[in-house]
Amino acid sequence: MIYTDTRDSKVQADFRTAVMSGMNAETGGLYIPVAFPKLEPSFINKNPEPSFRDIAFTMAKPYVEGEIPDDDLMEIIQDAYPFTPKVVPVDNTSYVLELFHGPTCAFKDFGARFMARVMSYFNRSENGTLHILVATSGDTGSAVGSAFHNVPGLDVTILYPEGKISEIQEKQLSTFTGNVRALKVKGTFDDCQKLVKTAFTDEELRKEFRLSSANSINISRLLPQSFYYMYSSLVVKNRAPLDSKIEKPSIITIVPSGNFGNLTSGLIAKEMGAPIRGFVAATNTNRTIPDWIATGDYTARASVETYANAMDVGAPSNYERIKAMYTLEQVRSMFASYWLDNDGIKDAINSCNTRTGYVIDPHGAIGWKAWDDIRGGAMDALVNGQKNDFTKPGLTPNAPEWANEIVQKNAVGIILETAHPAKFGSIVKDSIGREPAIPQRLQDVMALPDRAVPIENNYELFKDWLKANLSK
Ligand SMILES: *Cc1c(COP(=O)(O)O)cnc(C)c1O
Repeated sequence: MIYTDTRDSKVQADFRTAVMSGMNAETGGLYIPVAFPKLEPSFINKNPEPSFRDIAFTMAKPYVEGEIPDDDLMEIIQDAYPFTPKVVPVDNTSYVLELFHGPTCAFKDFGARFMARVMSYFNRSENGTLHILVATSGDTGSAVGSAFHNVPGLDVTILYPEGKISEIQEKQLSTFTGNVRALKVKGTFDDCQKLVKTAFTDEELRKEFRLSSANSINISRLLPQSFYYMYSSLVVKNRAPLDSKIEKPSIITIVPSGNFGNLTSGLIAKEMGAPIRGFVAATNTNRTIPDWIATGDYTARASVETYANAMDVGAPSNYERIKAMYTLEQVRSMFASYWLDNDGIKDAINSCNTRTGYVIDPHGAIGWKAWDDIRGGAMDALVNGQKNDFTKPGLTPNAPEWANEIVQKNAVGIILETAHPAKFGSIVKDSIGREPAIPQRLQDVMALPDRAVPIENNYELFKDWLKANLSK
């Protein structure tokens, strides 16, 4: 596969270059495959559907062709995914896609674990350790730390702002041993990011160590997220006619979004033939994308803190990929968009629980409420010309191409549940009156000793620490 660049379509890179460099330093653009090959209809139409790992292998193959042989790719997939996503029906026309069965209980495990193994694979033919530096405001750091833990040839240094992340998040970052370590910085997330960025541009440091990043713009994190869209849409295509008594329901996928990496992966799956008719972009008060869809103006802004904090992004980095792949009109025909404020998020957790018995986390809850409002009359109203004010919570005034499928009650929804509710136990408790059960793997982490190294927000001290502690 050839990879090009969102800012310069003349760029041609191989998979290895796209993965190892993360972004194109010359243009500042993001790598993107030149094609999204369709899967064979005989594969997509299997009933029962293929296993998650078969789907993962079949989808990944064209993107690594000529660079990773089949046997090695299979090994990467098996090692990355000892767990699978789960499709849980919560009523006749709604499915929750649980993406939290990995080690850190959030969907980022799917992307980070694949990326870690691919980087390790390519690093085998290089000399010495590849050092990953990552700044995190919460969930990314734990997914990356866990994904790279004990992966040969790589090591990870995580920087996080002391006192600014939740207790569970801190435990998930600070308790690693071996090749993964955490520094707690006396500063903000932006300070952490600045330290990391300065290190990447420090010639002296780069001469001594091979440095890389592991952030969400890396194409090897986006591609594997498309696997679970394909998987869930095939599961739902096969079972929904029985559950819903609709002969051929259209499948709408509802995606709680921040940086829009997850949703971009859904677009990739659709391009490759996943039977997904449309998407709902669901966000919190950080409504940059819903505003863009409603008004046509894209205005990046500072982020605001919300209960769905993994989506507190005001300048979503994957907007650039979506814009490179589609026109605004195409986006408007595929997407409905929807947002909720904090009160709405709590109501949504409660309404999901009351209506279905399902305990959902604050991110997934926005998705649930978006779907429940859309099928419960909001889309009918929009089609009939009643436009919601886009600056108020709810369905943004854009009727996608599939709006009539909703009006005619010919659709089912797949809501992506991006994190386990126990990671946000106190908000869930405020909403439904009880704490969600904590999975064993989170309890285990909570019992481990904290190993984070405290550090001042000072570049020279950070650099000295790296020089004294990183292996060559
Ligand atoms: C990262 C994250 C999101 C947002 O995903 P994007 O790919 O940034 O849109 C949503 N929910 C949870 C729990 C997350 O950790």
